[in-house]
This record gives sequence, structure tokens and C-alpha cells, in this order.
Amino acid sequence: CGIFAYMNYRVPRTRKEIFETLIKGLQRLEYRGYDSAGVAIDGNNNEVKERHIQLVKKRGNVKALDEELYKQDSMDLKVEFETHFGIAHTRWATHGVPNAVNSHPQRSDKGNEFVVIHNGIITNYKGLRKFLESKGYEFESETDTETIAKLIKYVFDNRETEDITFSTLVERVIQQLEGAFALVFKSIHYPGEAVATRRGSPLLIGVRSKYKLSTEQIPVLYRTRNIENVKNICKTRMKRLDSSTCLHAVGDKAVEFFFASDASAIIEHTNRVIFLEDDDIAAVADGKLSIHRVKRLASDDPSRAIQTLQ
Ligand code: GLU
Repeated sequence: CGIFAYMNYRVPRTRKEIFETLIKGLQRLEYRGYDSAGVAIDGNNNEVKERHIQLVKKRGNVKALDEELYKQDSMDLKVEFETHFGIAHTRWATHGVPNAVNSHPQRSDKGNEFVVIHNGIITNYKGLRKFLESKGYEFESETDTETIAKLIKYVFDNRETEDITFSTLVERVIQQLEGAFALVFKSIHYPGEAVATRRGSPLLIGVRSKYKLSTEQIPVLYRTRNIENVKNICKTRMKRLDSSTCLHAVGDKAVEFFFASDASAIIEHTNRVIFLEDDDIAAVADGKLSIHRVKRLASDDPSRAIQTLQ
């Protein structure tokens, strides 16, 4: 029921600082109600090659998750990450009882190649799950969300080119989904990258950088003390986007990104925010944020049918 994710890019942070930011973000969203909570963080040090994703999930409140995080032996709290992407979630169960396995992040496989956090409900998950099971993907939870984690791995496993981007994978995934979602993805195949998208459920991105960000370069990014104004400005500007437009929002300087279900979790970090609209895909790679709108396929569009994924 609440999404919070944090990326520091070329801004050294210790694991402890990263934990604190994630937990504080979740606490700000606690009022939305939840039954369990979880995070996915980078497991090792800055050696990108050796990186893996570590999941910590817990039934109960954010405080219980916080305590669990500090119990993990493998987590050296002093390790410093120059770039790190952590995602965090509070769940209000709709499909599957509240327990650790059903909590988010949900994962693609035991190696945690792709992990995802989700707010909302995927109404066509049964058909997708059946299809993926028929292809040999094994499910561990009862959630609708796990279908998304498996589906992105399926698209990745069946990619036609080696250099397919993270945001293209997500684009193909959401074209198969029905229902409501705000999603944030993380993957070991795309270290230091983030992809977020939404339809129906809210999601916004905050950007903090001590470098001046040019608004010419970044037409959707505004600085104001009044969050409602930002919302209105962004709405008008974003309408001008079509499915092929890509906005490069930030340079390659030190920058931090915050993704959240609502502004209350972001405002203490930055007042530069972007409200995503339905079918927007926001991708961060090399510290640059780009947003584009995906064409939504009608349910009778042949490329929307799951069979065509084969
Ligand atoms: N439908 C998902 C689940 O039950 C997400 C629920 C939520 O928005 O927290 O796991």
C-alpha cells in the first residue's frame, strides 16, 4: 500500500544511511495502512560485477522490518556505496494472506534477478500466471504481483537482442497487464538503474542535486515550495508528451532520486518532484532520468494477447 525507493548516484552513502532513508520513507506512508513490509537492497560492495540483490521481508509493522534489517549478519552497516538503489514497500494484502513470502518485493527467481514492488491489483494475473507456469516458471507466493516479476524475467529470457534496455522490458510487461499498478523495478542485470511506472495507482519521483538543473533540459521538472502547483504544472506539460517522446531530465552529476506513493515521503528530501501519469515509464540510467509514455494496447490487440509472447 506504500512504495518508497531511493537511489543515490555518485553520492557516497553508508548502508546504515540507506537503511535509515528507506525505513523513514516507509514510516511516512504508514498512515495508508499495511500488514507487512519489505526491502530489496544491493547485497555487496561497489564492485558492480559481484553485486547481488538482498531481500528482507517481514509480516507486521515497519519497526519490525527495521529490527530485522539490523539482524542480518551479512550486512556490514559501514560499507559505503557511491551508487546504490534500494526499494521498499508496505503491503495491504489483496491476493494472498499477509506473510513474509507474499510480502514485497516479489522476485523473478531464487537468484533475485528481477525484483518488483507493487501497489494495486492485477486483474488478469491468473491467465498470465498459467501461461508462465506452462513455460516452466515456478511461483512461490499467492500474490498477483509475483506474475509481474516472472513476466519481466520471461521477456528478458526471450529477448531478441543482448542490449535490450530495462525500460523496454518494463514497457513490454505493462502492455500485458490489466488493472491498477504503481511499480518500481530493480535488477542485477541493470546495476545502478531504476525503472518505475504506474496506471491507476499514484507514484511520484523526487530529484535532489546540489547542481543546478536546467529547466530547459527538463521541461517537467519544477522547483517550488507548493507541491500542489508542481502537480498542476506537471500535468499540463506532460499532456504534450506522446508515446515516442523521451525527456532527459538530469545530467550525469551527483544526484539522488526518491520514488514514492505520495509526497509526504519525499518532501523532507527535496521539493523538486514529478508526478507520473498513467502509462508513463520513468527510467534512471547513468544518473539520468527519462520519462516516456507507453501506448496502451487494447485487449483485442493481437500483440496484447499472451500467446504472442511466445
Ligand atoms: N495486490 C498486491 C498484493 O496483494 C499489492 C497490494 C498492495 O497494494 O499493497 O500483494
